[in-house]
Amino acid sequence: MKFSEIIYQRAENELKNRRERAERLASMRRKEFLAIHPELLDIEREMKNAALEVIKNVGGNGQKIDIATIAKRNIEAQEAKKSLIKGAGYPEDYLDIPYSCKKCQDTGICNGKLCECHLALLQQLSVGELACSPLLARSTFDTFDVKYYSDIKDPDLGFSPYEYMRGCFEMLKAYAESFSIHSNSFFFSGGTGLGKTHLALAVLNRLTQRGFSVYYNSASAIIKQFEKERFGRSADSMEEELNKCDLLIVDDLGAEFSTPFGEATVNELVNNAILSGKPMIIISNLSVDELEARYGQRMVSRLNSFEVVEFIGEDIRQIKK
Ligand SMILES: [Zn+2]
Repeated sequence: MKFSEIIYQRAENELKNRRERAERLASMRRKEFLAIHPELLDIEREMKNAALEVIKNVGGNGQKIDIATIAKRNIEAQEAKKSLIKGAGYPEDYLDIPYSCKKCQDTGICNGKLCECHLALLQQLSVGELACSPLLARSTFDTFDVKYYSDIKDPDLGFSPYEYMRGCFEMLKAYAESFSIHSNSFFFSGGTGLGKTHLALAVLNRLTQRGFSVYYNSASAIIKQFEKERFGRSADSMEEELNKCDLLIVDDLGAEFSTPFGEATVNELVNNAILSGKPMIIISNLSVDELEARYGQRMVSRLNSFEVVEFIGEDIRQIKK
């Protein structure tokens, strides 16, 4: 499996966080422990002295020292340290740095190779918070069945929903196969149950397999998160999160509670994506006219650079029942 540069960077950052967290925890524990058991310092001094004497002896300029005796002193000191910690009611390794991965000590590299923990992290980061969602697992190109769309020709359109959706399906599949960070953006519109989210998630699934990073969320969840950050209730940076991804998918635009803050956030989100050239998929039950009424004409004119896919047909979820 291949991952994008951004995913490697995020994994790198996470490993660094894990190391720093472990080291901070270790130093905190040590401080607390020493406050109650200062005799630990004597034991550690003894361990250090024993080690120093070995080095001096190897250097050849010291007096003759029995290495076996020093080694014994060192082992005894180590044992004394363990029993001091255990006697205080802690596990033996309580004062060791509690790395998440003992194998690589959270460096991500083990014997010159990518450690298992690093690989797991890369995979996890490529799917993000959706990783455990059954909806995501279900929504692939393989599970998208065009046969649920009617093959009766629409007299106004001149083609059947089946023909049209088949074309959309093939086009999006090709999009996912050839996706690059310079790919174009889409606006998926149409009523509920027409497969909009399914196809967007199918794109997501294929892209993460190909090593791209995709951010997916509903407009209301994104706005809520921005709101939290603005009022200082969250340390995470949504902006950073959005900047990091290769494709941004905003689902259910227009279903969120209408507020001036929400509308401004959506405008800014779309504007930033366009300015930075980031590919985006926006999904909405609203028509372009309804969007304009809700978010303003400027927002809708920004969507001119998006390719519009209008999902047609009848609610598949009803037909499937
Ligand atoms: Zn590891």
